[in-house]
Amino acid sequence: MTESTGTIAIETIGVIGAGTMGNGIAQICAAAGLTVVMTDISEEAVARGLKTVGGSLDRLVKKEKMTVEARDEALARITATTDKAKLANCDLVIEAATENEGLKVKILKELCETLKPEALLATNTSSISITKLAAATDRPDRFIGMHFFNPVPMMALLELIRGLQTSDATLAAAETFAKRVGKAPITAKNSPGFAVNRILCPMINEAIFALQEGLATAEDIDTGMKLGCNHPIGPLALADLIGLDTMLFVMNVFYEGFNDPKYRPAPLLKEMVDAGHLGRKTGKGFYDYSK
Ligand code: NAD
Repeated sequence: MTESTGTIAIETIGVIGAGTMGNGIAQICAAAGLTVVMTDISEEAVARGLKTVGGSLDRLVKKEKMTVEARDEALARITATTDKAKLANCDLVIEAATENEGLKVKILKELCETLKPEALLATNTSSISITKLAAATDRPDRFIGMHFFNPVPMMALLELIRGLQTSDATLAAAETFAKRVGKAPITAKNSPGFAVNRILCPMINEAIFALQEGLATAEDIDTGMKLGCNHPIGPLALADLIGLDTMLFVMNVFYEGFNDPKYRPAPLLKEMVDAGHLGRKTGKGFYDYSK
């Protein structure tokens, strides 16, 4: 580590959790030439994660965005294992396990016992305080939020979140890492929803209020935002994609986190969740996906 120049050499990446986000993060790191150790709790989860990476790289080969050799080399750079001891020599470990504060604190505490002292730690959490998670580690100054977007290989942004304790050198290293894996970094302070979801989710919630008030139909609200604001997808269709339960959870994080009624979830959103209409994943949300 060369603190004086603000750069920390990152070559070996650990990824904790081989799910939706974890396997995507492992994929982009391996494709960028980094060595990756991807872990999960069961052999099945690890195998599923690795299979998803393989399928995703195959699609890139089919689209002629990657050569067969580059795919094979990227796959060969990933060690997929349930053995967390294999993370000990990583330069950066990115935690992308299930969104649960107690679980994340436990994972981070255990990891710090074996991880080399100079290594950086990051979390992909969407809603938990970076400052709080940093405080649970033995290296709060070398801890940062790395909020990737889904699907990780497709989305260009990496939102970096500074906890109160995050050092300038850690932020600089995270920015260098983001560019190395092909992502454009932005930096936000630690606050509920960070920057992107803080703006996006209240906009979607407002669209649900508009629908509830009968201001316009779902189709017209979405068409309005697509054609009038150049959004690639309307807010109600996006809510169906994200999952209405996730939307409600996020709005409640804002409502409680800021103690401000401006973030109250739209009553229609609550009612849809009560009805089990969660969007695409249940076949029904603001639109019908059953066919
Ligand atoms: P997921 O459920 O797809 O994957 C989570 C994985 O973590 C599972 O495979 C699970 O087995 C594993 N896991 C659980 N406990 C573990 C442990 N002790 N050690 C190792 N692995 C463990 O979830 P996801 O959607 O990939 O979300 C992961 C993180 O990314 C969450 O913090 C979430 O808030 C965040 N996030 C998700 C999205 C999204 O759109 N899905 C976007 C940005 C950030």
